[in-house]
This record gives sequence, C-alpha cells and structure tokens, in this order.
Amino acid sequence: MQHMAIDEPRAFRLLAPEDLAQAIRWAGADPHNHVFLAGGGDLMEQLKTQWRNPFTIIDLKRLPGLRGLQPTAEGGLRIGALTRLAELAREPRLDGELAALRDAAGRVATPQIRNLATLGGNLLQDSRCSYYRSGRQCLRAGGDLCDAYYGFHQEHAILGASRCYTVTPSDLTPALVALDARVLVQGPEGARDLPLEQLFSATDQDLRRMHRLAPGEVLTAVEIRPRPGRRSAFVKYAARKSWDFALASAAVALELKQHRVVDARIVLGGVAAVPWLCPAARELLRGREPDAQTIDHAADLALVGADPLPGNRYKVPLARKAVAEALRRSLALSAAPPSLL
Ligand SMILES: Cc1cc2nc3c(=O)[nH]c(=O)nc-3n(C[C@H](O)[C@H](O)[C@H](O)COP(=O)(O)OP(=O)(O)OC[C@H]3O[C@@H](n4cnc5c(N)ncnc54)[C@H](O)[C@@H]3O)c2cc1C
Repeated sequence: MQHMAIDEPRAFRLLAPEDLAQAIRWAGADPHNHVFLAGGGDLMEQLKTQWRNPFTIIDLKRLPGLRGLQPTAEGGLRIGALTRLAELAREPRLDGELAALRDAAGRVATPQIRNLATLGGNLLQDSRCSYYRSGRQCLRAGGDLCDAYYGFHQEHAILGASRCYTVTPSDLTPALVALDARVLVQGPEGARDLPLEQLFSATDQDLRRMHRLAPGEVLTAVEIRPRPGRRSAFVKYAARKSWDFALASAAVALELKQHRVVDARIVLGGVAAVPWLCPAARELLRGREPDAQTIDHAADLALVGADPLPGNRYKVPLARKAVAEALRRSLALSAAPPSLL
C-alpha cells in the first residue's frame, strides 16, 4: 500500500517529443508503462505520492498545433487539448452560446491551477475519491469493497453507481457534453473522433480508468458544432468558492426557435462517475415554451433514478437546484448569478 506522505516520485525518464507522431511512437515503445504529461496538475500529485509509477513520461506541452481555438469549416469551434483553462475562462468567443464552457472553466480550482491545467487534462483527470487516492485497496484500486459505500460518502455518487461510488471531478465535462462536443483522438491505430460522453467509463464497465482512451492515444482537440438558437449555462455548487470540486453541478444547452425548445441537453456533474445526461427532462422540454412550472418539473425529472447513500442525500435537492438555476439562466430568466452554498 502506498502512502500520501511520500513526496518524491520514483525514477522515470522524461521525453519531450517534437511532434504528435513522435509522441505516439514513443508511447508505443513502452505501451503499458507510459503516461502523457500536460499541465501536470493531476499527474504530478500522483507521481509525487508514488500512487502512479510510470517509467516513461511523455511531455505533450511543446507539441505544435494542440493549443488554441480555431473556427471549423462548418462554423463550429475546435479547441486544442493543450489550451489552458485560464484561456477558456477569458475567451470572448465563448460568450453567449457557449457560455456554459466559459463559466465552467472559470469555476475550476484557483487562478494558479487554471493557468497550468489544460482542457485535455481536465477531461482525463482521475477520480478524486479520497479512499482511492490515499492508496487504500478499494474496489477501484483492485480490492474487494468500495470503502466509500461503508464509510464517508458525502461527496460520492447518487446516480448510476454500481460497485464503486466515485464521481467525475471535471467541471468542463458536463459543460462540453451539454454542448454536444466531440473529442478528436490520435493514436497508434490512427485518428478517430467520438461524442464526448462516450469517452467515459461507467462503474459497471471499467473501474481501472475513468476514460476509455487506449494506451498511446492522445486527445488532440474538442470540437463543438454550431446549433441555431442555442444558449447555454453552467451552475456549480461546492463547499467553498474556490479550490474545490463540485458537490453537484448542472450544464444546460437549449436550442430555441421562437421561444420554443427544439432540443435540451441537460447534464449533471459531481453526482455520477460519468457526465449524467437527463433524457426525461429533455423530452419534457422539447416543443415547449418553458415557464417556471416546466422548469421545476424538468429539474425533478433530471434526478429520476437517484439512489443516494445515507450520507449524501443532500445531493438530490442540490443537483435539482443546479438544474433549475441553469435552465433559468440559459433562458435568461435569472438576473443574478446563482449563489454558492
Ligand atoms: C486543489 C485542486 C482543486 C481542483 N479543483 C478542481 C475543480 O474545481 N474542478 C475541476 O474540474 N478540476 C479541479 N481540479 C483538477 C484540475 O483541474 C486538474 O488537475 C487539471 O485540470 C488537470 O489538467 P492538466 O493539464 O494539469 O493534466 P495532467 O495532470 O497533466 O494530466 C491529467 C491526466 O490526463 C492525461 N492527459 C492529459 N492531457 C492528455 C492528452 N491530451 N491526451 C492524453 N492524455 C492526456 C495525463 O496522462 C493524466 O493521466 C483541481 C485540482 C486541484 C489540485
């Protein structure tokens, strides 16, 4: 069993490839013992506590072409995986329609962390469950039991948990899933792209990793396609105003035509191991001109299936409130930003 008190990584070799092809080739040369380094906000902690001990670390930071925002031919936006969260939080092209992403980036951690953390690293960060991160042999770490189920689980899952009660820690994930983003990936088998929600592993699928990138695959960019009449919002509730992960968050992207909802993607964060899409709320909103009553009803439907543990029942009304507030904000029915806890 490893211990959080260790503050020094084991010996490793650090490689700085000149281009993406070289990065993928080098990963292939050490397929089961390499890791990619972006901002290092998550990875460095894992290495220093010797919780993760890869021999080959491949630094992506200097790779050309993986940073910044570019318009796509269809009128959408491609965002390089190495774009810093601070850049996203102050990016004027994310005002208006894509406000959920800008606001989510601005709510991550602290200004210092946002200055180094990257889009790709934020999506691919590992579980923050304190049992798992402290080196206990919990189920996710290869043991027999989910310690959180029997122990402290105030911050754990209320939806979709099977065996393990960890939650997705990433604020950008629900925002980008609500915006129907696709991820672009390049690896030893070539390039592929997939809807962002398919990047993540539910707890009944694979407990070893939160995501489904194959060894040697690099997440190169995220692409958001244009949608007529779209507006979006992100609301996060955490115990503190900064330096804190979401206890519950909600991202909403509505497509409106003459005040009627054409489509509504509502995604919860901090309540399940994966970004949690809310199909029943989506169905309710489609074709309607939402009023206060519809918003309340949609927020109720978003939490259908919630199955909290004794210590995290509070998350159900909290997540419900986040959905209602995100809907109000995306419909511009809420004048002020939502209050924090
Ligand atoms: C005190 C604290 C508070 C925090 N609060 C929040 C919060 O409120 N909300 C939130 O969302 N996050 C929060 N975080 C997490 C933080 O946002 C992440 O640690 C950070 O975003 C990771 O990004 P990075 O670029 O530093 O990734 P790294 O640490 O470099 O990498 C993370 C993982 O992703 C992999 N990786 C990175 N980029 C790629 C790529 N392009 N292709 C393939 N693999 C890749 C790495 O191999 C590694 O496994 C917090 C972190 C701390 C320390």
